[in-house]
Amino acid sequence: MKKGLIVQKFGGSSVANVERIKNVAKRVAGYKKSGYDLVVVVSALGDTTDELIELAHKVILEPPEREMDMLLSTGEQISVSLLAMAIYKLGFEAVSFTGAQGGIITDTSHTKARIIEINTDKIKKELRKGRIVIVAGFQGATLNQDITTLGRGGSDLTAVALAKELRADECQIYTDVDGIYTADPRIEPKAKKIDFITYDEMLEMASLGAQVMQARSIEVAKKFNVPIHVRSSFSRLCGTMILKEVKRMEEVVVSGVTLNKNEAKITVCNVPDRPGVAARIFKDLSGSGINVDMIVQNVSHLRQTDISFTVSKADVLRAIKLTRSVAKSIGAGEVLEDQDIVRVSVVGVGMKSHHGVAAAMFGVLAKNKTNIEMISTSDISISCIIQRKFAESAVRALHEKFKLAK
Ligand code: ADP
Ligand code: ASP
Ligand code: MG
Repeated sequence: MKKGLIVQKFGGSSVANVERIKNVAKRVAGYKKSGYDLVVVVSALGDTTDELIELAHKVILEPPEREMDMLLSTGEQISVSLLAMAIYKLGFEAVSFTGAQGGIITDTSHTKARIIEINTDKIKKELRKGRIVIVAGFQGATLNQDITTLGRGGSDLTAVALAKELRADECQIYTDVDGIYTADPRIEPKAKKIDFITYDEMLEMASLGAQVMQARSIEVAKKFNVPIHVRSSFSRLCGTMILKEVKRMEEVVVSGVTLNKNEAKITVCNVPDRPGVAARIFKDLSGSGINVDMIVQNVSHLRQTDISFTVSKADVLRAIKLTRSVAKSIGAGEVLEDQDIVRVSVVGVGMKSHHGVAAAMFGVLAKNKTNIEMISTSDISISCIIQRKFAESAVRALHEKFKLAK
């Protein structure tokens, strides 16, 4: 009996070796046997993407982004073909596609391309033949047929976008944890699995460092209301449902603590305190496609001030180069960098209607003898930049303070 269509995504750790690929094949075949149509998205094996990046950097410090996409997309081509073979071996028909063959058309921003359209004709044709369709995650192609990638963790986005486009009944994200936890379980073993979480909270947690889901995939899921089930590829347990609304018996103020180790801080010293100077600094950065995150400008003394901001570690070399040249032209002083910082954040929709969370957070960090270097807030989160050596202890102390293990 036909049961509907499921999009399943298996992350790198779920296909890290041959045994695991066989395990995924069994799981996929089980769903097929029970009557589902299946589109399966796979990431590159284990740490392949990191290894390919390292390889490129051995050749050149700042690789051309088009060539980087050409290189990185090979990782997922390996896993889709191997999974198709493993499924064949179990007696089922499977066909593997690259992103381009799967009809994923993107813009031309290499290494962080956006999907502009998905032409699902080829996928649907194969599904009608009764085949399991396996699509390489994390990649697409421009209208000009140049290969692009969708940003780190981009296979999540491939899965969500395909689920939306194919009107799938479910989008299942299989990973190496049982679901979304109140903190990264590798850092806080007492972290608890969350059964239901809203798109808004998940988006905030993902943007602030919870790598379990790519932030942009949640943006798309929210926009098109695609329900997501995050679960383990190593167990049959129910995981976490990510939904528009979650009914809770009691309002939760803080739902999770996150840690982001991927930012670096840049400080421009002795910036002349006059209109237009900040605009100059940040215009050049944004013009080069560099995303600036937290910004702090100190109180001006003697008509000079320091401006600090954070950028992703991947952009830090370019950002420093650009900032040094702007600093020179506006008569500012030294440009300093600090790559030994992290961002620790607390997230929760309940913060909209409760006060005292910031005070409690700062109190915990103070007790932990941790200096706060920068602070930023949103409707549903508070973040502090602190030194890296305090990262893990800060996460655990905040987890305890907000009683997340209960
Ligand atoms: P995949 O290879 O399946 O895409 P990722 O490594 O991208 O997996 O994401 C899973 C990892 O995310 C987990 O192993 C876990 O350490 C980490 N993680 C960080 N924050 C959280 C969180 N709040 N809940 C669950 N996992 C988290
Ligand atoms: N392989 C890619 C990465 O490591 C995409 C993904 O895993 O989702 O970022
Ligand atoms: Mg991932």
